[in-house]
Parts: sequence; C-alpha cells; structure tokens
Amino acid sequence: MPLSTHRTKKALGQHFLTDPAVVGRILAAIDPQPGDRLVEIGPGAGALTFPLLERHRRLTVIEFDRDLIQPLREAARGRGELELVHADVLAVDLAALAGEGPIRLVGNLPYNISSPILFHALGHLRVIRDMHFMLQKEVVQRMGAAPGSKEYGRLSVMLQVHCHVEPLFVVPPSAFRPPPRVDSAVVRLVPRPVHEVAVRNPAVLERVVKAAFAQRRKTLRNALAGTAPPALLEGLGIDPGWRAERLAVRDFVRLANALAETPPAASVQ
Ligand code: SAM
Repeated sequence: MPLSTHRTKKALGQHFLTDPAVVGRILAAIDPQPGDRLVEIGPGAGALTFPLLERHRRLTVIEFDRDLIQPLREAARGRGELELVHADVLAVDLAALAGEGPIRLVGNLPYNISSPILFHALGHLRVIRDMHFMLQKEVVQRMGAAPGSKEYGRLSVMLQVHCHVEPLFVVPPSAFRPPPRVDSAVVRLVPRPVHEVAVRNPAVLERVVKAAFAQRRKTLRNALAGTAPPALLEGLGIDPGWRAERLAVRDFVRLANALAETPPAASVQ
C-alpha cells in the first residue's frame, strides 16, 4: 500500500504534516551540514523524511508502525540512503546509532508519549549533538518555562539542567492530517557541555524535583518533608516557606548536590 493511502492511527499519535511551508521552516531550523548523523523519530508518511533525505542523502529513521516500513523503503528508492529501524523508540539504544559521531535527533513526535521520549533522549545526551522536535505547544512552553510561571515544573527543570531549550515557532492544527486538537510548536534542544552540568547524583536530583513539584501548592517544607530537612534548605539560602516554582534550576542542582553529600539518616526529617 503506498504511503499516500495509509490510514492514520490515533493510538500511535499519527498526525502527518501536510504543510510544505512548515516542513521548509523545520528544515531551515535543522540546517543539515555535510557529515551530520541525522536520526528521525517517527517518519510517518515521510513529510520530513524525504526532504531531509533529498537534501542530506543519508538518514536513519525509527518507526514503530509496521504498516509504514515497506512503503517508506519503497518511496526512498533513488532519493538517498535511508536506514529504517522498525522499533519502539523508547527501546532503542541511541548510543548504538551514534557510531561515528554524535547524532542530531529530529522528529514530529507522537504527542501521547512525548515526555517519555524526551526523558529517553536525556538518558543518551552524551551521544546527541542537538534535537529539533515538534510537540504540543503547551509541552514546549513547559520545557522552556522560567521560574515563577505556572508552566514551570519538573519537565522545565530536568530539561534545562541538561539542555539549552529554544522554542522556535508555533504550528496550527491545519498543518496536519488529521488536525490535532491542540496547537503545536517546534523546539531546539542543545545538550550543555558535560563540564557545565554539575549534578553530582542525577537520581537525587530527579527525586528532589519530583517531590518538590508533586503538589505545586505545598511549601518546600511540606513537599520535601522526608527528602530535605528545612535546616538544609535554609543553609543554602532557600526559604522553606517558598513553593517549588520559585526555585531556579541552579537552586535545584545545589539542593540535590547538598543532599547527595548528606548521609541518608541526616537528610530525612
Ligand atoms: N514525521 C511524520 C510527519 O511529520 O508527518 C509523522 C509524525 S506523527 C506525529 C508521529 C510518528 O511517530 C508516527 O509515524 C507514528 O507511527 C510514530 N510513532 C508513534 N509511536 C512511536 C514509537 N513508540 N516509536 C517510534 N515511532 C513511533
């Protein structure tokens, strides 16, 4: 069955881009350079895949929908070297794809699993040069949110600790088939150099950030009861009466680092 007659699957978050102007803007943002190792998540019917392939001649794609694999292979003939990985991206070891050098990840992501995909990518940052993703607009707002805003939360902190987050542009539902119910946006993520990310123990940071934002309206004293004693917060110049949304990303890192150095018995109230 050719790609043009593929029936989209809601369960796989299939909203295919149909607006060539949007495709052009995404390509301009990626700006592939000779030698780049491009990897696309979820090629779908190839809206981004084929323009990228024609321009760059070489591309790896990861697609979960079995019905798309053979049609994509056939449509790629004569356009360049398309490596097709038929898999759930969450099960793909991105480091194994990197091989010759860091990868540039791109994709109009399935919105239903966009956060797990982002966290999966965070687990492979050493092999990623940058990422250009289309996501639900609200998710992009949360990713790039600053302290004090209502969008600022776990996703903002965990991404901004490790990456520079740059929201690029908004895309309306009319750019897709079928149109999603929400606006979308394209974002660029650039991993920070390893020496800039001073997190001593990533698991501790994850635990603190999760607890702090689990109930946003709670003060840090209450939200972090059992995780960080008020005296430790005060010692870092953090008022236990604040809510998590007031803490800057670097404050979460300072707090997690202090906890990572504190013996477990002392860190629990
Ligand atoms: N890139 C195409 C475009 O822009 O038109 C399709 C984008 S569509 C929003 C998301 C794509 O991700 C679909 O092709 C879907 O089958 C694929 N997908 C969904 N879940 C996936 C998973 N777990 N692993 C890999 N691909 C997945």
